[in-house]
Amino acid sequence: MARIDTYNFSKERALVRVDFNVPLDNNTLEVMDDTRIKAAVPTINKILNDGGSVVLMSHCGRPKSGPENRFSLKHLVETIEQLVGVKVHFSEEIVTEKSFEKSSTLPMGEILLLENLRFDPREKAGNIDFSKALSKHGDVYVNDAFGTAHRAHASTSVIAEEFPEDKMFGYLIEKEVESVSTLMKSGDRPIAAIIGGAKVSSKINIINNLLEKIDILIIGGGMTYTFAKAQGGNIGDSVVEDGHLETARKILKTAAEKNIEVIIPVDSVIASSFSNEAETQVVATKNIPAGWMGLDVGPKTISDVHKALSKSKTILWNGPMGVFEMTNFVKGTYEAAKSIVSATQNGAFSLVGGGDSVAAINLFGLSKEVSHVSTGGGAMLEFLEGKELPGIKAIMS
Ligand code: AMP
Repeated sequence: MARIDTYNFSKERALVRVDFNVPLDNNTLEVMDDTRIKAAVPTINKILNDGGSVVLMSHCGRPKSGPENRFSLKHLVETIEQLVGVKVHFSEEIVTEKSFEKSSTLPMGEILLLENLRFDPREKAGNIDFSKALSKHGDVYVNDAFGTAHRAHASTSVIAEEFPEDKMFGYLIEKEVESVSTLMKSGDRPIAAIIGGAKVSSKINIINNLLEKIDILIIGGGMTYTFAKAQGGNIGDSVVEDGHLETARKILKTAAEKNIEVIIPVDSVIASSFSNEAETQVVATKNIPAGWMGLDVGPKTISDVHKALSKSKTILWNGPMGVFEMTNFVKGTYEAAKSIVSATQNGAFSLVGGGDSVAAINLFGLSKEVSHVSTGGGAMLEFLEGKELPGIKAIMS
């Protein structure tokens, strides 16, 4: 496997799989959020600065059957030109002679963007003929689309076989892979994981995988109440998964056997209804009256979380501590984010990945204050579950 930083792209045409699945305005079809395009710029710049050219390919949206103007990548051309500062050509055909003509005559220092790969059903099917045809667009293959790394699509994994030597990760994926590897393999101890969010059921696999590595497990969010009920607490009308009480008990048993410190919120901010206008009070999590529901963690828990994170050297954050979308229930999540930031300032490695904790850290304007914020929701979740991602495996094998 080659490394982007040491590879010399001079006179090479690099075929780069990016994740330009960006939201477009319904009426004007202008790019509404260019975060994902910006994220690919370091990889694009490295290739251009070396004296190579770049053929970009991506999917966007969920086209049903064939081309749809509202998902066309031609609407991205101007934004890419502005962000990279070079000419961007566009090919509305993906693997026709006309498109190969465009990529083979592409001047060094310039960019060609191919039309939305998912306009061709062979992309999602992982069709080998399609990936072989796509590979004609480049001399070297770079995968920088972490958001689709968990999919075995033609452009994300199958195509790598056509470049046995000249295949590599872009900077973005490289950082994602390194961050998870730090957490799972080489992270300094103690290693803490804060797992919040709505449901235990969607996090069981992550928690089970993490129990093999971590020293401290902090539970938060809606799943607090499944754990609290499993321990015999009264949780009133809080969200609960009765089918997973046994799962929660098993997690606690395994954690105890492995000497993992577990923090389950001791107090909660409870509300009389699921609304920002509801009446609120702070009570012990195991004593929530009927008619009330826990929507955030309370002050004692905030302090417990802060203490645990202050002594941690490696931190994973996945899932909010409460209903952070409502201002009256944002405090627990905000304080956890601040504790992660202060641990990072004291030398800890911090990874925020998967689900709504990424939305939360962005909302608080603190994303630059942690070591890494993952760009791939589903891909990061599967990565943390310990699954092999086809897009990663294809480059590493
Ligand atoms: P996830 O996608 O699993 O990370 O879940 C995130 C969602 O969990 C957010 O929309 C939160 O509003 C929600 N959530 C967090 N805490 C609670 C809670 N105590 N009760 C209900 N929903 C919650």
